[in-house]
Amino acid sequence: MRKYVIMGVQGSGKGTHSRLLAADLDIVPIIVGDIFRWHVQNHTKTGSLVRRIMADGELIGDDLVESVVRSRLAEHDWNFGFVLDGFPRNRRQAEFFVENYDIDGVIVLHVPDSEVRRRVLSRRICVECGTPISLIESRPAVPGQCDSCGGKLIHREDDTEEALAVRLRTYHEKTDPMLELFRRKEYVITVDTRPPQEMVQAEIRQQLGLPPQKTRDPQDPVPGTPETGGA
Ligand code: AMP
Repeated sequence: MRKYVIMGVQGSGKGTHSRLLAADLDIVPIIVGDIFRWHVQNHTKTGSLVRRIMADGELIGDDLVESVVRSRLAEHDWNFGFVLDGFPRNRRQAEFFVENYDIDGVIVLHVPDSEVRRRVLSRRICVECGTPISLIESRPAVPGQCDSCGGKLIHREDDTEEALAVRLRTYHEKTDPMLELFRRKEYVITVDTRPPQEMVQAEIRQQLGLPPQKTRDPQDPVPGTPETGGA
């Protein structure tokens, strides 16, 4: 059983590296932002509560986030473990988490804010499978379409200059200090995500003592689609 938390500012590559870790380790990526995006896209009651908050780059209230995470983890579809992306994000969430779950490690992805801005503004996301795509690193084979599933690529509603400024400020104010709590209790690794993706993934695995990534057929979809209907 392997249970990890992955943290970093938006655009640091959390979604990508969670999916890559999950791809051959049989662990489930649980991407909290994807769960809420699913709700917004599917016009659920939760979606209507969080849409504006997300678009403005603010954090959703702790009670709601904790109950979504609790019910997602209660699905127990993660026999071999999970990698949790986007939670916890402040001290209260971290306390809730360490009280209720054991984890094997916290992966902190580090990237300077100036680089984040460049990445986030050139990022697209697939409306169907949630795969993030960086137009800096690659162009989709068919413009505007996801290489994995053919879904439409869109801008995330919160990938704007204004929302990004709020999200960066919130991260440094609330999430950075929370790391101290983890450092005292859990195994924390920090990886610079400026090198190419494969090098970053290799470094994460090496620091966690995991086997190297198996070579994937580029046609294989990266797992981790937001299977979040029950969340
Ligand atoms: P992300 O894709 O992780 O950047 O999350 C997108 C948005 O979802 C965030 O900007 C928040 O509005 C909301 N969100 C995701 N995770 C959390 C969390 N742990 N606490 C509060 N809000 C969250």
